[in-house]
Amino acid sequence: MMNKDAKIFIAGHEGMIGAALVRCLKTAGFNNLITKSFSQLELTNQSEVRKFFLQEEPEYVFLAPVKEGGILANTTYPAELIYVNLQIQTNIIHFASEVKVKKLLFLGSSCIYPKFCLQPMKEEALLTGLLEPTNEAYAIAKIAGVKMCQAYNKQYNTNFISVVPTNVYGPNDNFDLKTSHVIPGLIRKFHQSKIERKKEVIIWGSGTPRREFLFVDDFADACLFLMNKYDQSEIINVGYGKDVSIKELALTIKNVTEFDGELIFDGNKPDGMPYKLLDISKMNKLGWSAKTDLKKGLKKTYTRFKEIRRESKK
Ligand code: GDP
Repeated sequence: MMNKDAKIFIAGHEGMIGAALVRCLKTAGFNNLITKSFSQLELTNQSEVRKFFLQEEPEYVFLAPVKEGGILANTTYPAELIYVNLQIQTNIIHFASEVKVKKLLFLGSSCIYPKFCLQPMKEEALLTGLLEPTNEAYAIAKIAGVKMCQAYNKQYNTNFISVVPTNVYGPNDNFDLKTSHVIPGLIRKFHQSKIERKKEVIIWGSGTPRREFLFVDDFADACLFLMNKYDQSEIINVGYGKDVSIKELALTIKNVTEFDGELIFDGNKPDGMPYKLLDISKMNKLGWSAKTDLKKGLKKTYTRFKEIRRESKK
């Protein structure tokens, strides 16, 4: 168990997941959190990260995503994604071990499982088949992170755990259409079409791929739970437990945003993985499950999206 005054470093606190982790830790009463903006600490820079760890000596580390993106970002910027992720995680995992942090939580991604993985995807499926080409570079970086944590646990007796989240969404998500995941992308498109009184919204791909979505505050809660309760090298899945097709998702977002036009499916855009549902029985056995259903989470996300738009117009 982490003490309330334990020194906790949250890497990537400017991203949606990192920010939710900070909120969750603060609400739970943790009062010694360290966060560094990009200008204060360039995580890709080995000597800066080394200096930071030697100076601060954090007791716990959460390694939240710093650079990631949706299907278009993954196919457009694979080099940046593999370089930045490998660099950041290598620096942090290594120096966390050097200064003997008590525990580190590394975040993987459900894209680390094989493209044609048996559904729901169990933790044991890792490295049993070829990856989905659209996100291979990012997935390889994440797999390297998992394996690096396991190697350090083995050789240096560290307590570095790896968590595999399903697709996470929520307020403060990245709503940039070129780099976003499907939920923020569609919220923005539906909202825009409603405002501009357009007749249709374009949905990428066939609409048939299925995805599982987890609300970001539930995910942050799961990370805190695991930091306190889980001490094994084996990866552990965190998901919602149910998936929906992209078409069903689009219809729900249409409803939440109150858009009354048509959906057009653009078959020239990639579908990515056909299915991506995590087997969460391991997490459930530990006593954790998600609280926020998709509709409720989408409503919260849309409300915040509109607030941000209003604030930026002021
Ligand atoms: P993935 O889970 O890694 O494939 O990443 P995404 O969240 O980006 O995409 C999930 C699925 O939603 C894919 O099949 C996309 O083609 C589909 N999709 C439909 N419309 C959109 C959109 O506007 N943006 C994004 N990112 N994906 C979309």
